[in-house]
Amino acid sequence: MNKVSTVKIVIAGPRGRMGKEAVLLVKETENFELVAVIDRKNDGGNLQDVEGFAGISAPIYSDIEKCFQEVQADVLVDLTTPEVGMHHTVTALQHGVRPVVGTTGFSQDDLKELEQLCAKTGLGCIIAPNFAIGAILMMKFSQMAAKYFQDVEIIELHHDQKLDAPSGTAVKTADMIREVRETKQQGHPNEKETIPGARGANIDGMHIHSVRLPGLIAHQQVLFGADGQTLTIRHDSYNRASFMSGVKVAVENVMKLDVLVYGLENIIE
Ligand code: NAP
Repeated sequence: MNKVSTVKIVIAGPRGRMGKEAVLLVKETENFELVAVIDRKNDGGNLQDVEGFAGISAPIYSDIEKCFQEVQADVLVDLTTPEVGMHHTVTALQHGVRPVVGTTGFSQDDLKELEQLCAKTGLGCIIAPNFAIGAILMMKFSQMAAKYFQDVEIIELHHDQKLDAPSGTAVKTADMIREVRETKQQGHPNEKETIPGARGANIDGMHIHSVRLPGLIAHQQVLFGADGQTLTIRHDSYNRASFMSGVKVAVENVMKLDVLVYGLENIIE
């Protein structure tokens, strides 16, 4: 039997809510090894000395360049913020390390730049606005439904500490619907907002509404309407562990890729 080689992983944002789960995932997965973490605090220390990580040893770097110069790594898992996440992703590719990016809020220009960098370096990179397998299915089912229902509104609901709106998942869902739906300006042609923003964001005539409340994690419903009927497709993530099976799939698959893949739905059949 072929022995599966160990994937050496660096995690950026280990003290964050997603980062913590990712550290546990790597620790518990056979053939995954945590070789370093990128953290703007605790530079030069070891993760096992940070509260909540007893027994999990990995050097801590604040400078990602220095990390990749000193540590041999295969994959960077980035779970930070769009500003620093883009810098991390570019730096990883420049050092021959394949990025798996869960950080949301990357712009179209960022994606274009990363696509070109992947082509130049021949390295794979996965950017996944949503790692939850159920959310991937929600997007796929929505794309199927959009062939038959042209009118659609997306309501995404997240915890109140989320930095970007609309969510990456909502934008990705709209993009997937756009691939099969003819552009349509929805609602009444003379519709007027008496309070600006009342109709939400507008992508190709589709409206996206962002709800932010404490108590929520990550939820989305896609509502389709036609004469005399509506169809609602909904997904709920109740904790951050719900995203980890997707992170595992992404890490395993990025090792086989030599291009940028945006969205886990392009990996999962
Ligand atoms: P979080 O709890 O706020 O964690 C973010 C982490 O990034 C923190 O550890 C933070 O460190 C670190 N960070 C911020 N700025 C940094 C910098 N300049 N340099 C280095 N580290 C920095 O957020 P979260 O809920 O874990 O989410 C992280 C990202 O994943 C967000 O973009 C979120 O939208 C996304 N997300 C993706 C999915 C998915 O399925 N793809 C699911 C949930 C969330 P400090 O503690 O020092 O601020």
